[in-house]
Amino acid sequence: MGNGRFAPSPSGDLHLGNLRTALLAWLFARRTGRGFLLRIEDLDRVRPGAAAQQLADLTAIGLDWDRPVVRQSERSELYDTAITRLTEAGLTYECFCTRREIQQAASAPHGPMGAYPGTCRDLTDGARATRRAEGRPAALRLRSAVSDFEITDELHGVYRGAVDDLVLRRGDGMPAYNLAVVVDDADQGIDQVVRGDDLLSSTPRQAYLATLLGLPVPHYAHVPLVLNTAGQRLAKRDGAVTLGDRLALGETPEQVMSLLAGSLGYRATTAAELIRQFRPERLVREPWTLDPDRLVATTPGP
Ligand code: GLU
Repeated sequence: MGNGRFAPSPSGDLHLGNLRTALLAWLFARRTGRGFLLRIEDLDRVRPGAAAQQLADLTAIGLDWDRPVVRQSERSELYDTAITRLTEAGLTYECFCTRREIQQAASAPHGPMGAYPGTCRDLTDGARATRRAEGRPAALRLRSAVSDFEITDELHGVYRGAVDDLVLRRGDGMPAYNLAVVVDDADQGIDQVVRGDDLLSSTPRQAYLATLLGLPVPHYAHVPLVLNTAGQRLAKRDGAVTLGDRLALGETPEQVMSLLAGSLGYRATTAAELIRQFRPERLVREPWTLDPDRLVATTPGP
């Protein structure tokens, strides 16, 4: 049996939506007899101290994990090796497009929404040399042989989504998220990916990339996000939405856990209590709407 995981970006504190996703990933992994691993995705958007606070908050709500926490910033060799393999197989090309050029070209009336239109795919050696000489920083893209790919998701069933010539290495030299996540999941023996359903549309790209690298495609479960009262994805600005915010208002970690458990249709005040009841197949499929101003009042008692 493999592992599940939670892979936060250390850009700030986790809010209740992130904590709920982490809780679900932990419940799915532990309940199916898997290990549970934590990976800090710190290739960009790092706020000093955020990773430590995230780990502390996960511990405070009763989650635990196996093995030392992995940080993407310490794993560049793994990403380089994967990129080299793809390049040696003729599956990459340099892209000199600016963000703006891509946006303009991608809004052309053909091709999937937001997909890279392939501007630099067939540049001649001369054209490539000219752009390099102009000092344009080159990103490295995948030379994709497909325009879509199918995955199976625990909640969404069979899902087919766009695959374009995705970026493998950014213009600033950093490995791209889609590459890093695929390499890391395989390296860490992760065969179960539970994460927010905002990432569902990226999943066919990742599964295709895994296939090209000869890596196993994990089982996926993309879980509904938490929404604010206006129906948008919950964000820090929506009020007292982090664990720290809630504790500062006088709530206990047990009350926060009971709120999260309640949002999943269970009554429990600790993660340990919740896991005894949790049934992955009974997961609520609708987004959970949260009104931070009413949290204390609506928190179900033990
Ligand atoms: N680091 C990503 C995020 O915080 C999650 C990536 C993943 O779970 O695959 O949004």
